[in-house]
Formats: sequence, C-alpha cells, structure tokens
Amino acid sequence: MQKYIVSKFGGSSLANDLQVDKSTRIVLSEPCRKYIVVSAPGKVPNGHSIIEQTKLTDILISLAIGDGKYSISDVERKFSDTGLDCYKDTHARNMAELESGLNDFSVPDEQRLDFIKSRGEDFMARLMAEHFNANGMDAQYIGPKDLMIVSSEYGDAQVLDESYAKLAALKNTKKVIVFPGFFGFNKEGHETTFSRGGSDLTGSVLAVGVDAVKYENWTDTDGIFSADPRIVENPAGIPEITYKELRELTYMGFNVFHDEAMIPAMRGGIEIDVLNTNNPSGNGTKIVSERDLNENDLKYALVGVAHKGGFCMLNIEKIGMNREHGFGMCVLQAIEESGLSYEHMLSSIDVLSVVLDNSQFKVGTLNSIIGQISDETGADNVYVAEEDIALLNVVGRDLKGQMGVASRVADALARRNINILLMDHGANKDSMIYGIENRFGKDAVGAVYQEFFTV
Ligand code: ASP
Repeated sequence: MQKYIVSKFGGSSLANDLQVDKSTRIVLSEPCRKYIVVSAPGKVPNGHSIIEQTKLTDILISLAIGDGKYSISDVERKFSDTGLDCYKDTHARNMAELESGLNDFSVPDEQRLDFIKSRGEDFMARLMAEHFNANGMDAQYIGPKDLMIVSSEYGDAQVLDESYAKLAALKNTKKVIVFPGFFGFNKEGHETTFSRGGSDLTGSVLAVGVDAVKYENWTDTDGIFSADPRIVENPAGIPEITYKELRELTYMGFNVFHDEAMIPAMRGGIEIDVLNTNNPSGNGTKIVSERDLNENDLKYALVGVAHKGGFCMLNIEKIGMNREHGFGMCVLQAIEESGLSYEHMLSSIDVLSVVLDNSQFKVGTLNSIIGQISDETGADNVYVAEEDIALLNVVGRDLKGQMGVASRVADALARRNINILLMDHGANKDSMIYGIENRFGKDAVGAVYQEFFTV
C-alpha cells in the first residue's frame, strides 16, 4: 500500500506570496505529500514593516482581547501579503466569519478567544486548498471538527486518544488534504487551541492517525543545530537525533519543535524531518527512534549542548537521614504540598538537595515554603544552597557508556574558570547535567561546543 507523508508548513513558510509559492512548489514536487498542515501566516523573513514582523495569531489575539494594538485591516494586510486574498469569495467569507466572531459576546471569553485565535490557521487552510487546486492539484480543505477531539483546556488543549481512530478515516486519500494546525474541537463542539506553536502537534497527531511514512516539518532553518546560534556562531547542524535526545535539548529551551508535538510521533515510531522551506534540497534534521553509530563515530556521539537559567538548589539536612525510612518520601510530599515541582534531586549521607525552577516562587513565599518543608520533615536545617544557577545539558547517544566525556566537559569548563556546582548523570544515559552559576551559562555552552564540535 502507498505510504503518504504529512507535511506541516510553519508560519514563516506561509508569511507572504514568495513563501507561499515556495511551499506550494515543495508540495507539488512530491506526490506522496498528501496531508498538508498549515500554520497562520507568521513573520515575513527579513520583513520591515511592523505587520510583516508580526504573526497573524498575535494580531487575532489582540483583536479578541480588544487591546487596541491592531485592527481588522491588519488581518487584511496579512492575507494580502500572502496573495491568497485573490480567492475573493473564500477570503470574503473568512473575513465575515471573523467579524461575526469578534462581535459575538454571548459566549464565554475563553471560548470566544480560542475561536478567534484559531481563525488564522483555519482561513489559511481553506485558501491554500484553493491555491493548490489553482496550481493543478486535486486538494480539499478538511477541518478538525469530529476528527481532532481535544480537552476543554482553552489555550492549552490536550489531544484525546479517540482522535487517532477518527483521523484514520482520512487514510488512503486520493486528494491532497489541507488541514489547519493549532486547534481541535472539544466535546462541547467548540474550537479549542493548543499552546502557542501547536500546529506542530496537529501534524504529529495527524501523522499517527493516518499512519504516515513520515512527518515533515517545514520551517525557516536548516534543521536543528548543535547549539543555540545566538550563543555559538554558525553551529553545526544535527543530521540525525533521537526523540529522547531532542527532548533533553527542548527541555533546555531549544524551540525549533514544539516539545509536546514530539510525543505522538515518538510513540507511533514516525520519523520527523525538520526541513527548510528556503533551502528544500538541504539535509535538515531527522528525528528518529534510534540512531546507529559505528566505532569511528564515537567522538561525534554528542548531538548538542544547551543551557537554561533560573534555578535554585534547596538543601534539606538531617544527621542520620540515610538510616531513616521514608525521609525521602516526606521531603517529596512536603514539596508537593507546597505546590512546587522539582527538576532534579541529589543526595549524600546527611543532605538531600532538590533543584527547583525559580519561576514557581511568588515573591516573598520562599521563606514560608522553607518553614513548611522544615516542619513536615523534621529536618535539622533547610536552606537555599544556591540561589541562581543554570543547568548545562550535554546531550548525546549513550554518554553513560562512553569513557572520558565527563572529564572533557569538566576540563573545558575549568579552562574558562567555570566551577561546577552540581552534576546529575546516569538517570538518562543520553544526557549529563551540570549546575553552574547562572552568569556563566552562555560561556559554558561555548566551552563545551568548542571542546566537542570544533576540530
Ligand atoms: N499560529 C500559532 C502560533 O503562532 C500556532 C503555530 O504557528 O503553530 O502560535
């Protein structure tokens, strides 16, 4: 049986007529590209005007909340930049639908907001289907109603499992299906959006539902880089990376691909190719379940290095804690009861340390949280050992099984006078985490990159 590809085009790939043209040619060039997921027009590459530099979704949100920053004419402008307003009837129907949504205050605010916010993708899918037909394809718009069923968490919907069986009805299509990204319908039948960037998730779920041979994610960079290009000049591209490795990097802020979007494709074992609309013949990055290395490749086992700041380390000290049954559980319970979640946990004979994301603390609450943990655990001392640390994540295939990686990381940091405050190795064989002073975060990424990725 013929296997088809799901291709998702992000906002920058559809931001103006030039980009729409490039995306259309990509679809035309491969008959297996049968399922096309579209984002709303995003920022125009190298665009100058404010509107060119603004995503349609942001304009729609502004109109929905009525903050006065944008007007309906800015929506018109976004579509006229794409050239797709030439499909006059569809465009006029779309704009009328938007106006009526904006004037409808009879529905709850969050429902109204998500309806308006999702119009960018929906309108774009209708127009692109028409555009594909005008370019010789046999294309059809299909919306998420009765297919993509999601929870009622407006602005942060979760895909419900029943969606996969429903989407399977789209298998073996003869037509090119154009499907809007970013939203589904909840059980009450209302448009409900995913978190921002959520069209990636639509593509991933659709790929599993129709059992696609792969999921292409067309964007504006040549795949995924080994380090943040804002920190390292011209970082090396990653030809192939496993889902697990990429999740480690995404956790540290690599945002090429929506983090939740990886999960359906990962479970379905579907390869994701991150590709560049502006350089379609480039290799991009393949995200796969497993990647092979031969012995000569060992020095290239690393795929990337990233950092994230804004953490603290809380120490809970009690002499003889190692002999006390249930102490660890008590600490975790106290953390949970304080409404906190923790990132990492380390321990020694008399001390247990938890690494917490500082953004969870409301101003002035830390002392009461410390008091609560102290009371509940009966600890001798609870204190903030490190106030402001960054976590450096060195990611690669089976780092746990390779000798000398940690020593090279430590050496590279020491050469730049960066002290290691904590290390967390071994839980995931593909990652090594180091805590360092926040101010050294970027420098540390540069040091590790230089050590492993430059000759
Ligand atoms: N248009 C939406 C956003 O800007 C969703 C997406 O592009 O994936 O977040």
